[in-house]
Amino acid sequence: MRVTNLKHILKQEHAVNLFQLALKKRRLSHAYLFTGPEGVGKETTAWAFMFHLFCEKNSEDPCGGCKSCKKLLKELHPDVLKIYPEKREITIDQIRSINSFIKYPPLEGNYRIVLIKPAEKMNLQASNALLKSLEEPPSYVIFILITENFTQLLPTIVSRSQVVRFRTLSSEVIKNFLMKKLSYEDKIAETLAEISQGSLGKAIEIMERGLIEELHAFVNAGFCSDQIFKFKIAERVASFELRTWELFFYVLSVWIWKSYLKKKYNLPYPSAFPQELFNQNPFTALKVIYEAKIALEHYVNPELVFYWLLIKIFNQEA
Ligand SMILES: [Zn+2]
Repeated sequence: MRVTNLKHILKQEHAVNLFQLALKKRRLSHAYLFTGPEGVGKETTAWAFMFHLFCEKNSEDPCGGCKSCKKLLKELHPDVLKIYPEKREITIDQIRSINSFIKYPPLEGNYRIVLIKPAEKMNLQASNALLKSLEEPPSYVIFILITENFTQLLPTIVSRSQVVRFRTLSSEVIKNFLMKKLSYEDKIAETLAEISQGSLGKAIEIMERGLIEELHAFVNAGFCSDQIFKFKIAERVASFELRTWELFFYVLSVWIWKSYLKKKYNLPYPSAFPQELFNQNPFTALKVIYEAKIALEHYVNPELVFYWLLIKIFNQEA
């Protein structure tokens, strides 16, 4: 679901105004640095901006239907170059490919866009190579660098870019979006909004990866005495891909905290969460999660890691 108009970006008025004004006056920077937490609309805004730049209807509102818009929708526009990490980082070879891309004038539109995300994944060599391209790019080139933390970038890169800040969204905004735009049910939307730290992207990812249900299954297995059932659930979690593990650990940690805060201080508890666990000391359980992550990084058999995790977290109660 691509947002094709800056008007429809959720609650990032600062960034949206800046671009609307720049487009109106046709005074565009050659490099923008988008900074802010994950999942609040940075990349969405970058693409929306491109629709305004490339739409052939040339009106204030991109049409979404012309040839250029269609190519953008498929992320196949020949004047857009995307640089994402290969494995863990962005390498100098990838940055070198930018040079050959910007050397030639646009094929279809009036601009050539280079999108780098997440910019903090550039290694030092790559960053230095990018600096050279940022120095005097041809007038038709616009760089968009996206980062969660611009303090991890070379200061010289930051100083050559126009910094555009993005902020976290309120849980009210997230809840409304999930209910109205994605038709999530009330209880789920509220829970996701409460646990996603102002990141709409994270809320949606948790839902799409089915992690609320997975948490229920895991907790049920934890409370149950059937060892075979426990092992089955451990096997299931072990089969997830890396990003799903990351989010699973996140949701599990939030559950441990919220359980503790509810039992100990009677604080509100997410309504779509499973039964709470009483932990005198949540840090012990959080430490177990940390140890499980380390074990996975060292290629310990994931089925054993998750089985061990299940036993350890719930055995503290005994
Ligand atoms: Zn169009």
